[in-house]
Amino acid sequence: MTNLWGDLTGVKPVKLTRESFKGNPYNGRKPHERAEVYRILTEERGLSREKAELLIEIYEYQQHVLKGENYTSCGLYIGIPFCPTRCLYCSFTSNQKPYEEVERYLQALLKEIEYVGRRCRETGMAIETIYIGGGTPTTLDEGQLERLLDSVLHNFDLCKLREFTLEAGRPDTITSGKLRIAREHGVDRISINPQSMKERTLELIGRSHSPKDILRAFEIADKSGIPVVNCDLIAGLPEESVGDFEHTLETIIGLKPMNITVHTLALKRASRLIEQDSTYHETHSDVVSDMIELSHKMLRGQAYRPYYLYRLKRMAGALENTGWCKHDTAGIYNIRIMDEQQSIIALGAGGMTKVFFPEENRLERVPNVNNYEVYIERLQEMLERKEQGLFRMIPEIYKQTETLLRR
Ligand code: SF4
Repeated sequence: MTNLWGDLTGVKPVKLTRESFKGNPYNGRKPHERAEVYRILTEERGLSREKAELLIEIYEYQQHVLKGENYTSCGLYIGIPFCPTRCLYCSFTSNQKPYEEVERYLQALLKEIEYVGRRCRETGMAIETIYIGGGTPTTLDEGQLERLLDSVLHNFDLCKLREFTLEAGRPDTITSGKLRIAREHGVDRISINPQSMKERTLELIGRSHSPKDILRAFEIADKSGIPVVNCDLIAGLPEESVGDFEHTLETIIGLKPMNITVHTLALKRASRLIEQDSTYHETHSDVVSDMIELSHKMLRGQAYRPYYLYRLKRMAGALENTGWCKHDTAGIYNIRIMDEQQSIIALGAGGMTKVFFPEENRLERVPNVNNYEVYIERLQEMLERKEQGLFRMIPEIYKQTETLLRR
């Protein structure tokens, strides 16, 4: 198979494209015009014409969506590390636990939200986007979800909020009550992640729902009035042909979500799939490549445009994941996290806070522990880490922002 990405090995090729356009004094990159960026990508880095054009198209569209840098606001991520079952390809610490355990976790998380919300208000850090992810946040029951969202609204200053996403990944966890609560609390984007519309595939990957559940989830989402629905699909799932993938994509397009994210199956280190077949990503290169090509044709044909892209290690065909959107509904959080030009505060087990220093173009990471039980036990330490690594740094972030604005 042809190497479409040349010598690019990093996760964030759009960030690299931005640096080619805007320059980066900290690694010696100079700013360039469009034609020169294209030449660098194709001739120096060896990308195919299509991939270089795709990166430039996405970069240019992101400039339109972001409307400039925003260093004094941040993204807020809240993690719920529970799922009904574990997917075959999952490397995340997704836990299948009873109500009492989820409740214990929620109690700790609410304390972190309260602390971090208060410190954000005191230090003047505004929130631009919120992303509640996981795991599957909609494993919370209606009462728990309501308490979580109440706490977010109550504790953070949201006057600059541009986007509020709730991942509702597993269709079988979605109820009209949960989406009504979400809508009432300002959620304006949800993600329903069927991955495939083929019954046999859903069984093979260890999902506990059927294609019918997916259709039912879309109906509920439609009635909820939440304006943006994203839908995650995966190209290269076990035993799937290009025809199966086409059927999935056709069905999903027919449901008219504003966003569709097409992932390429990646063989992740801690997944069950890698134990079963450590060469899966190599043996499925060709079929996945055809699927991705088809997704571009079908999505462009229905007026979707690509708005973000990233790559992972051991992706089938060494390809990429691409987010598509209609009517300017690009997911701002997704763009910002890949662009790494803004701080992201991450709450909950496994949350990785990233503190961005604009003048130095530098990111510092402040991790929470991954294991949810350890997170509950060591919550005080997680708060202290944030105090030292984030809140004490905020005056410096503001100072660097002012210096940049004066230039
Ligand atoms: S839904 Fe996501 S986090 Fe949960 S088991 Fe599947 S891949 Fe893992």
